[in-house]
Amino acid sequence: MKKIKTAAITLLTIQLGVLIMVVILPLQGCKKEASSTSSSTSVSTSSAAVRTIYKRIYGATSMTSDGTYITIKTNGLPDHKSCYWPTSDSLYQAFPGTTTFDGLTWQSNNNPIATQSLTFKIPINPAVASTHAATPFGPIGVALNGVPFYNQYAAMYAALTTEAQTLDQYWGHAQFSGQYHYHVEPLYLTQTKLTRSSLLGFLLDGFPVYGPEENGKILTSSDLDAYHGHTTATADYPNGIYHYHFTQDAPYLNGSGFYGTEGTVTQ
Ligand SMILES: [Zn+2]
Ligand SMILES: [Zn+2]
Repeated sequence: MKKIKTAAITLLTIQLGVLIMVVILPLQGCKKEASSTSSSTSVSTSSAAVRTIYKRIYGATSMTSDGTYITIKTNGLPDHKSCYWPTSDSLYQAFPGTTTFDGLTWQSNNNPIATQSLTFKIPINPAVASTHAATPFGPIGVALNGVPFYNQYAAMYAALTTEAQTLDQYWGHAQFSGQYHYHVEPLYLTQTKLTRSSLLGFLLDGFPVYGPEENGKILTSSDLDAYHGHTTATADYPNGIYHYHFTQDAPYLNGSGFYGTEGTVTQ
């Protein structure tokens, strides 16, 4: 009798165990899937159409796609040290002395970095424009860290050399409303985070931007066309694509306007 009872209890225990496994395991599966999805997606991507290449824009706070344009939102803040951060910020780093960009004595423009609200809407399938629009003042593209790219001019179309002495240790600076930006090679990306031959971002026309090095050679503007780019295969686009390069010599990033039809930027 006792033996039968023990056997019955054992059977019940096994049945319960199976029941627990049947009920609990799928729950754990769901939970695990949910947590891994949220941890692997640092930005909200509302559409499956957001192509892998754009996920390199690690500074984006959100990215969505309607299949024609990708909409990238950023706060415009650099992810590196700068003498333009407010002195209370942990990323503040003083930069006295000589600038490495032009060898002039560094001079502050007295514009501390401030949080921005930038929305870049750029074509997913960039195409050459029949009429090449001039680049505007303000953002003309977005770097992978979410900082905007600017064109080759200081205010009032003055040559950038007039304000080059205000560039910080990573060759960026902020303008009057605290918007940090790169007119020239973003050194944090090319020397610390990535390399001088890496994809660095996109201009508003959707064409990618690379550092100054290609196949072991440091390019200059004379290697590029009037818009400061050319069409070759790249590591990211093995079938070839038009792309811009940063160069040490003017116009640094873009020449006579956008190669392609540009999207929009709102702020
Ligand atoms: Zn500037
Ligand atoms: Zn190239």
